[in-house]
Amino acid sequence: MLGYLMREIFFKELSNKITDIELTKSGFIINKPFGAKPQNIEWKQLRSIRFSDNDKVIIIKTVEKDIILNDNQIGWYEFIQSIPKIFKQFDFKKANSIMDSLKSCDVCGIIAVRDNICKICESEPWHQKSKKDKSEYLKDKQLEHFEYELKNKIKIKAFAEPQHGFKADENWKLHL
Ligand SMILES: [Zn+2]
Repeated sequence: MLGYLMREIFFKELSNKITDIELTKSGFIINKPFGAKPQNIEWKQLRSIRFSDNDKVIIIKTVEKDIILNDNQIGWYEFIQSIPKIFKQFDFKKANSIMDSLKSCDVCGIIAVRDNICKICESEPWHQKSKKDKSEYLKDKQLEHFEYELKNKIKIKAFAEPQHGFKADENWKLHL
């Protein structure tokens, strides 16, 4: 049985991972799991929008409340690239440099590795000290990542496609 604190942390993490930030024509919707009502926010409701000091969180102030969006949430990277230019105090350069700093993931083919973890498939890149050699490691990780497709006999594409605001790596290879 998980302790209260652990459960808190676990559910918060889980809830973040399946919270989805969806862009609309005039703002965005935050879809939270576990039956929460979606929050529909218009750009014009925003008083300010900025990055946290560690660049992993967006802090939004509206007239009524503060909204925290963190980079584990689905759509966060697309969101930071879609903020209207009218928010002159927003650090657009930082948004660009975050996107530029992402590395390609050899497992899923998406350019989404930040701090040594892929934001799409949650794999760690292979490194020299791994027990397995690179192609063995990638094969195992791809078996995990494409488990659903493999189980359901869905053909896996031999190329990666951009998703959630991330680019795809044209040189990515399937090792299965
Ligand atoms: Zn990946």
